[in-house]
Amino acid sequence: MAKTLDDFTLQDAASFIERGIDAIVLVDSESDTYKTLVKKGMFTDFIDDAGSYNALTQKLWFHLKGSQDTEVTEDYQVFIPRFGKFKGKYSRRLKLYKDETPHSVQMTITPYEDNFYLLILYELDSSEYMKEFLTYEKVNTIQNTYLFSMYIDLFKDTTSSISITEISDDTMEAEIKYSQWRMMIVNMIWPDDRPLFLERTDPDYLKKTLQPGRTSSFDCLMKNLEGKYIWVKLTFSRSETNNSEEDFRYVFMVQDINENSMQLMSTLKKYEELASKDTLTDIFNHGRIETEIHNAIEIVGRTDRKVSMMMFDIDYFKTVNDSFGHAVGDITLKHFAFMIKEYFAKKNVVVGRWGGEEFVAVCYDTDSSKAYGYAEDIRKKVQEEDFNVAGNITVSSGVTEILKEDEFENAFDRMDKALYESKSGGRNKVTAK
Ligand code: GH3
Ligand code: MG
Ligand code: MG
Repeated sequence: MAKTLDDFTLQDAASFIERGIDAIVLVDSESDTYKTLVKKGMFTDFIDDAGSYNALTQKLWFHLKGSQDTEVTEDYQVFIPRFGKFKGKYSRRLKLYKDETPHSVQMTITPYEDNFYLLILYELDSSEYMKEFLTYEKVNTIQNTYLFSMYIDLFKDTTSSISITEISDDTMEAEIKYSQWRMMIVNMIWPDDRPLFLERTDPDYLKKTLQPGRTSSFDCLMKNLEGKYIWVKLTFSRSETNNSEEDFRYVFMVQDINENSMQLMSTLKKYEELASKDTLTDIFNHGRIETEIHNAIEIVGRTDRKVSMMMFDIDYFKTVNDSFGHAVGDITLKHFAFMIKEYFAKKNVVVGRWGGEEFVAVCYDTDSSKAYGYAEDIRKKVQEEDFNVAGNITVSSGVTEILKEDEFENAFDRMDKALYESKSGGRNKVTAK
């Protein structure tokens, strides 16, 4: 369900803002003391829980200066209380050095009550990464969660940034030729998606396929700042123009669609699972296990792998229903399904419910005698198991190894005949054919 404005309260907004703030310091200018209300990330180390505000501003000064001999901007002066009472809210973006690394920090001091002030600090972004991103050699990553956009002129082969989050202007200068940019970005694309990327970003392709005013996009996996591949949507939108011979200007955008894509994929996976599960026993259903048998036959025909399969049929199951009722019958079926699922869990075996009280296991890399051993194990386990209300039950099974020349029908038929022999031979038996 899409949210509406009514779903949000001031509290929501306040806590959202609070999460984005890295430090909140309450200052008493009269006694030159402060108390830290919030501190996170890079600020945990150099802001104490409480102390002298003057000492704190000096410490910040030190961090602003950093190890390099750069001068601290005059803007900082405003945060020093000896310059008089704060009359209004002051907010400045400053570079703070921590471990010799500069961080872009927004510092805000705001009058609170009487002689109290709030000093609020937050790190803006990893602008140094951005610098790297825009310089020639080191294009490795892209700002996570952000929509990056730029102008592209294919006629002049130029690019220019439109927006890359809130970063200072001095990182926006870099000029990259489109053709260079393309070959740098391709390294951030998931290897399998690179051919698609190269095709869709090819200047000739863009000129040919995108008419003025038209937009086209494609999705691929791209490395983010942490080096993780995320789903992104890359969009090219060609400008309206009357001169379609020489005017090839585009807006290009990168959009993080990872969360949506992941959600979509997990939903699809859930549906796929639901469609292949037996609702009573929660193991694979008839359709899914039938597909598995077809798969196994195909593998045996094509490779040297050995695959066997077996069918289990609970003995005199009708009497369980007749004596204890259908509900107990259901519980017993679940119990049995759970047992075989557990038994085969760590083996390369796929199990499912064929229908009623019949179950099938497809055992990969398993020859006939190994498969017989599995079936025997299960027969014995079932014989010894306490099925609660139903008490003791037994199971019969038929085992067969899939042959190279097999088709579905004759392989299945062999397994079925083996099962029939187990039944006619007295039940609680395993037969291999
Ligand atoms: P046999 O040893 O020859 O296999 O005897 P059987 O009684 O197990 O065989 P039969 O095929 O005559 O009976 C199978 C019974 O399984 C009949 C049916 O009521 C029961 N059954 C099938 N599906 C379900 C189910 O989903 N829940 C319950 N409780 N019973 C089921
Ligand atoms: Mg049966
Ligand atoms: Mg039966």
